[in-house]
Amino acid sequence: MSEQRDHVRDDGFDDWLDAIEDGEPYYLTCSEEHGFLPPRHVCPACGSADVEPAPLPATGILETFTVTSVSTPTFEDDAPYVVAIADFGPVRLTGRVVERDADDVEIGMTVEPDVVSSETSGERVLAFRWCSTSWCC
Ligand SMILES: [Zn+2]
Repeated sequence: MSEQRDHVRDDGFDDWLDAIEDGEPYYLTCSEEHGFLPPRHVCPACGSADVEPAPLPATGILETFTVTSVSTPTFEDDAPYVVAIADFGPVRLTGRVVERDADDVEIGMTVEPDVVSSETSGERVLAFRWCSTSWCC
């Protein structure tokens, strides 16, 4: 794991990926209870600087997805892959669906957040793991 963290860190995003890997995913919320990610110092909805982390719900619902067959050079060894948006209640997250072929991805399925490494660059990316079995959640 350490070699993957040797790249130039994007502190807000990398700290957030660390939290997911550590089993403590969070989102940020302001005093008006707007939820948002990625981490920033001011609420994008109301401008409040009164921002604090809150536990991210354990699972989200897959809202939409797209299959990338031909990617940018940054992810060319990863293709084909599925990028999805999942609704976690206070926040929506964009991540890569793992452990599922594109044909098996369905809107409305329950997913949980995880972190995987790009096969091309080794950079960490947000991933969604399928959550259809009782042992998962
Ligand atoms: Zn707000």
